[in-house]
Amino acid sequence: MTGHVSAGRVTALTAELVRVDTQNPPGREAAIVSSVAAVLESSGCETRIFESPSGRPSVLARYSCGRPGAPTLLFNGHLDVVPVAAADWSVPPFGGIVRDGRVIGRGAADMKGGIAAAIEGLRACQDAGLPLAADVEFHLVADEETGGAHGTEALLDAGLIHADACIVPEPTELRVAVAERGSYQARIEVTGESGHGGEPGRSRSAIADAARLVGALHLATFHDEAHPLLGRPSCNVSMIQGGLATNVVAPHCEFVIDRRTLPGETAGDVLGSVVRKARETCPDVDFTVHPAFFCEASELPLPHPFADLLLDAAGAGSTPVGLSLGTDARFLRNRLGIPTVVYGPGSMRQAHAVDEWVSVTDLTAAARTFAKVIASFGQ
Ligand SMILES: [Zn+2]
Repeated sequence: MTGHVSAGRVTALTAELVRVDTQNPPGREAAIVSSVAAVLESSGCETRIFESPSGRPSVLARYSCGRPGAPTLLFNGHLDVVPVAAADWSVPPFGGIVRDGRVIGRGAADMKGGIAAAIEGLRACQDAGLPLAADVEFHLVADEETGGAHGTEALLDAGLIHADACIVPEPTELRVAVAERGSYQARIEVTGESGHGGEPGRSRSAIADAARLVGALHLATFHDEAHPLLGRPSCNVSMIQGGLATNVVAPHCEFVIDRRTLPGETAGDVLGSVVRKARETCPDVDFTVHPAFFCEASELPLPHPFADLLLDAAGAGSTPVGLSLGTDARFLRNRLGIPTVVYGPGSMRQAHAVDEWVSVTDLTAAARTFAKVIASFGQ
């Protein structure tokens, strides 16, 4: 059935999806759901639009293989894209331009190309006239880029996700990703004592104390044992501000950390590790940690037959990899226990970048892999 994958069709659909501005924030998914639903209906799916309690729409589509009790293979992809600064782009970001073997535009790689490749995989199976052994569902969701609360998490809370396995076609350069790190972000407030700038030794500078803490936390190591695919947790001090006036010893300073996490680490674990590291290194510094954001890491523990199925379909030499960033796969893995693999066309280096693009070669290769998985799942 891979011979039925059409490069022209998957390219045209990617470009068509890119041409709809679905920037999040503010979250413009409403602009795209009816055209996506129409595409899926024309591919034999039953579709419906789900609205989160906040009114953000996602498309749910189901292609029935006609066998009662057949297992369900789910594709979960997000319709929202990150905002653009159009002045920085060399082409219109929502032009859906196809040039030199690439589709160029916001969302081409992250992840409208992946969604188009998944739909093309199903179309190729249909064109080949293959009898399928599994139902195929698509959850094309809102809000992944700002955390998923109004998209995949809203579907989960509404009890609408039931599947035996799931593929999230985010851009992985056609690699089979079975694990991803999470993220813990916090603001750390350091308190000093204001005093005359002419006698800085007489009072306690919050900036000087914060500098020591930054030195302790930035690039710190947190575990002796590395995860085989994800390595060790990392810590980046990403923003800092402090001080009152040029001639005053600084009474306040605060900075923000982004501590990437490993599977199994809770927000409490991470907070504990950060506080321990800070206290060990700087026991005399007066600081308070204000947690701001947490999304947990996740993984599909290997070996697993669904990972093997993807590795076989992806072709010779495929080995499982880990991602250093989070996707909606974490909801499916951690909250529902659904075996979930992230695999798709394009590169995360293109995701969120100026002049974002995905190659037609990748789109076609991903669609072939998806066609193989759809054809063999449940057989
Ligand atoms: Zn994405």
